[in-house]
Amino acid sequence: MCGIIGYIGKKPAFPALLSGLKRMEYRGYDSYGFCVLNNEKEPFFHKKVGKISEAEPELLNLEVKGNIGQAHTRWATTGAVTDQNAHPHWDCKKNIFLIHNGIIENHKDLREKLIKEGHEFSSETDTEVLSHLVEKYLDGNLEEALQKTLREVRGTYGIVLLAKDDPQKIVTARLSSPVILGIGQDEFLVASDPSAIITHTRQVINLDDNEIAVLKPDNFFILKEKPTVSIEWTPEEADKKDYPHFMLKEIMEEPETIENAIRGRLMPEEGTVKLGGLDKVAERLKDINKLILVACGTANYASRVGKYMLEEYAGIPTSVDIGSEFRYRKPIIDENTAAIFVSQSGETADTLAGLKEMKKKNVLTIGITNVVGSTQSRETETGVYTRSGPEIAVASTKAFLGQLSTLAMFAVYFGRQRNMSLVMGKRVVSELSKLPELAKSILNLAPDIKKLAEKYKEFENFWFIGRKYNFPIALEGALKLKEISYLHAEGVAGGELKHGPLALIQDNFPTIAICTSDSVYEKMVSNIEEVKARGGPVMAIATEGDERIKELVDDVIYIPKTLEMLTPILSVIPLHLFAYYMADLLGRNVDKPRNLAKSVTVE
Ligand code: GLU
Repeated sequence: MCGIIGYIGKKPAFPALLSGLKRMEYRGYDSYGFCVLNNEKEPFFHKKVGKISEAEPELLNLEVKGNIGQAHTRWATTGAVTDQNAHPHWDCKKNIFLIHNGIIENHKDLREKLIKEGHEFSSETDTEVLSHLVEKYLDGNLEEALQKTLREVRGTYGIVLLAKDDPQKIVTARLSSPVILGIGQDEFLVASDPSAIITHTRQVINLDDNEIAVLKPDNFFILKEKPTVSIEWTPEEADKKDYPHFMLKEIMEEPETIENAIRGRLMPEEGTVKLGGLDKVAERLKDINKLILVACGTANYASRVGKYMLEEYAGIPTSVDIGSEFRYRKPIIDENTAAIFVSQSGETADTLAGLKEMKKKNVLTIGITNVVGSTQSRETETGVYTRSGPEIAVASTKAFLGQLSTLAMFAVYFGRQRNMSLVMGKRVVSELSKLPELAKSILNLAPDIKKLAEKYKEFENFWFIGRKYNFPIALEGALKLKEISYLHAEGVAGGELKHGPLALIQDNFPTIAICTSDSVYEKMVSNIEEVKARGGPVMAIATEGDERIKELVDDVIYIPKTLEMLTPILSVIPLHLFAYYMADLLGRNVDKPRNLAKSVTVE
């Protein structure tokens, strides 16, 4: 969840650590810390509560010598957000310096034991037990000491370890928390996130669970040989360019994201799609008669749209689970079930836990993820990349569009394997190919949406309503607004209003209604009327040409017409922009909302 980075090479370590940390700050950011080893002097270390981007000007003035170091941005799980609890954590002799991403579940017992053995702790974190355990086991060989340490701990970790009296070495380890090694020219890096090292190298090795790696100035080794893979992103893609926030940049990239997801995959003549990952298991897929989609947060909402698509167009009974629920329930599965895991980062701990379960039960596992080489992409039997490019803002936007586009292609793929006609296949494929242009036209509405945000920012509570394909979009619209603006927003199916939510409607409680011209249009109109009858203001997302809606609601945002199944891919765009402008106008930290972090790699 947090960011970790380590550097060893010929260049000064500190600037590499600082820029890497800045690029990773979106992953967790309540405090930060560094340690740089220096042969001549005592190690430099510095840790503090706050945001690295704010501290940067001051840090840039520091003269820090040394070519090996580590840095961390913390997203606290155990212990308050204080300077002492920031990483690195050291041992009693200040010889061991350790940074950690994850949670050590048995830290209390270990701490008590270590205290009895005479160790003195200086923080409240779970992480500090690791430093003292390494101290306890250190007998000349740092990696062996870490190996022994890890045998004692339960939990999850990505670790970067340094020792003052062994200053030519970084030791790193992972369990259920991403760690990649960057293999550069005369330098090696280790990080939890490709964005941290991409300015140095694009050659990386993904560490697997339970592996320990040792990096030295001129070589490195892991327990077993592994191939290097290339990161597909360029450093420019992970830059903010001239945008005030990553989130706005990423929303503006939504048309391109749809384009990237479908590029080279549509087969207009055959009325189908070509998805290499699914082709690999095509024969097995023909026998699948039940699908389970597992995902968290925004990806879960994309999956809910996917369920409607797959059931309507492929006729396969499909259920959707939240990762954290799925891992603890007993799903009914058999040899004809396939489980599809959807995660932007491919590192979502709760989703990965479900994946492990399904693998144990020999279910066919399929991944939809954005990050090449991520744990999910390695652990699933097969999968499809969404190719959305790096997503830096904590609140996911463009990756959602990549997931929706990919799920629409899944519906065509499974559908054409089953009863979907050639004519219908051609129609969906043709409509899919038009989406990037249509999405672009919606972005032109940004100034109008900003004006609406000016008006609606006065309110503190919001309902988002939608039906059928746009019900999950109502959930997504509400999630996005609450995540980054901290306003209270709830999504609800239009038909559910009268079963409770209507009680809250008054003139200070607006409703954002997705009311596109589709099979549930009339039903949505009735729901809007229910709200209006109780004095609630309504802003609608409607289809171009719908004059009737104007009479009914206070404000309308028009989006172009497409197939009903594909409307969510368009209707969500104005909601992303709306959430963005609301949060920005309210002066919120749009890219790094409080209490949240990207890529939730803890349970
Ligand atoms: N569990 C550790 C802590 O609370 C690490 C949290 C993180 O991943 O940032 O300090």
